Amino acid sequence: MRKFMTALIPFAVILLAWITASQAASFNDAVHAVIVVLPFMIAFMALFMSVWYKNSRFFFLTVFMLIAYIMLNIAAAREAMLVEAVTEISILIPINMIWLAFIHERGIITSYGANKAIIIGIQFVWVLINVLGKSNDTSVGLVNPDQTMPIPAPAIVLYVLAIGFLMLNYILKIQYVYMVFISILLATYISLHFAHRPVTLAIFTSSVFIIVVSALFEVSYSLAFYDTLTGVLSRRAFEQELAKLGRQYCIAMVDIDHFKRVNDTYGHDVGDEVLKMVSSILKKLSYRARTFRYGGEEFAIIFPGQELDEVVPVLERVRKAVERRPFILRAEDRPKKKPEVITGSSAGRGQLNITVSIGVAEKTENLKTPMDVVKRADEALYRSKSNGRNRVSIWSNKGKIYWTKNSRM
Ligand code: GH3
Ligand code: MG
Ligand code: MG
Repeated sequence: MRKFMTALIPFAVILLAWITASQAASFNDAVHAVIVVLPFMIAFMALFMSVWYKNSRFFFLTVFMLIAYIMLNIAAAREAMLVEAVTEISILIPINMIWLAFIHERGIITSYGANKAIIIGIQFVWVLINVLGKSNDTSVGLVNPDQTMPIPAPAIVLYVLAIGFLMLNYILKIQYVYMVFISILLATYISLHFAHRPVTLAIFTSSVFIIVVSALFEVSYSLAFYDTLTGVLSRRAFEQELAKLGRQYCIAMVDIDHFKRVNDTYGHDVGDEVLKMVSSILKKLSYRARTFRYGGEEFAIIFPGQELDEVVPVLERVRKAVERRPFILRAEDRPKKKPEVITGSSAGRGQLNITVSIGVAEKTENLKTPMDVVKRADEALYRSKSNGRNRVSIWSNKGKIYWTKNSRM
């Protein structure tokens, strides 16, 4: 849900820019003067933040857009120059956005960063040469002040292809960054139509940089509150969530069985894939449960406002879902010799059977703090382990721990 909402923020920014731009005619000159420098101020903030968070993608995106904005301002001196600038920049934007959306994070002040700067630099030197080449062209009537500037057909095709491609990636991977790039393409597409109106151009260019700044805030938030490997919420988010809990809730601890053996037999990379597989099952639990990576191969689940009776069947389903989901090994990950049987069942050369042990506790009168509930859930988890793993143990409020039957008992 949060992901869906954050994906909408860039479009809300564009909408706001649109509303502001439609009112621009009624602003006085002082306001116009401020609006025209606004892109520089917000771009400076975007550059500062992207350096701070070492985010080369948004750094070079901002550099690119800032130079494009400066070029359009230089080209505004003559109609022929402006038409030339819009033509070239409208073709370069979709190409560069696709490139930047897919670059790997390799730093800003590194040789990789320098290469990116050179690639962007060369493009704009070329644009500048072409634009200045038109500086003696005094023809008028190329730009109709009452209409929007035309975008050349090849650029429109590139824009459509780029947006379609990013959309496809968003649907497949549900990564916020693709939405950011789609919205930036949309904002620049609109702004290029208004390249002959400095205030409107400045408003839409500002919206591009505001989108970058908000995306950088989102990145820093995600770094703190999401686990980068599995995509579930982090330990830090867990601690904050504990502080917000009400009177009724359950907490479950989930630990992968014999995980060390997975690492030892198949390597750390396969271990990481197993972690992702288990967390993908935990993530789909329900909207009433929140999953956190507690540490290593241990997850915590908070069920706010719910009772043990409701929660235990859910956890039992989770346990079964993990047990039934075969983890298929790629050929290169399969060990040369027959591995030690991983979980006591049919783990073979090509397939790994993963199980989890679960412990759950409910908030009661005796348990004063959420941490007490976590401790009880941990005790129950320990009991699941000592009773043969792959089961759900429940800490009852009478201080007794019991566990569910499982298919292997
Ligand atoms: P048990 O059934 O008793 O839980 O046994 P176990 O082997 O799962 O538990 P143990 O605590 O002995 O081992 C946990 C292992 O998890 C040790 C550590 O190397 C591994 N581990 C922790 N975090 C990660 C990670 O992010 N990636 C990978 N691949 N391994 C991890
Ligand atoms: Mg374990
Ligand atoms: Mg553990």
